[in-house]
Amino acid sequence: MKYLIWIAVAAIIWWVWSKRKAAARRRQRDDSPQPRAPERMVRCANCGVHLPESDAVIHGGDHYCSAAHRDQAVSRD
Ligand SMILES: [Zn+2]
Repeated sequence: MKYLIWIAVAAIIWWVWSKRKAAARRRQRDDSPQPRAPERMVRCANCGVHLPESDAVIHGGDHYCSAAHRDQAVSRD
């Protein structure tokens, strides 16, 4: 009878351990980087550097690499 208890305890430990391992594996898969869609590149209207559109500062239909270059271009006009 005593063996049965130990077998049950071992089974519970194994069950919890395997569940945690499966959860960790699932988490790791979720963290894996997604293939990103190629991003459109734009050109700074002030200095001409190319940068991803999401990083660009947009003003008056033009793209700028930074707020400083936007301000330079705006003050020049
Ligand atoms: Zn620039």
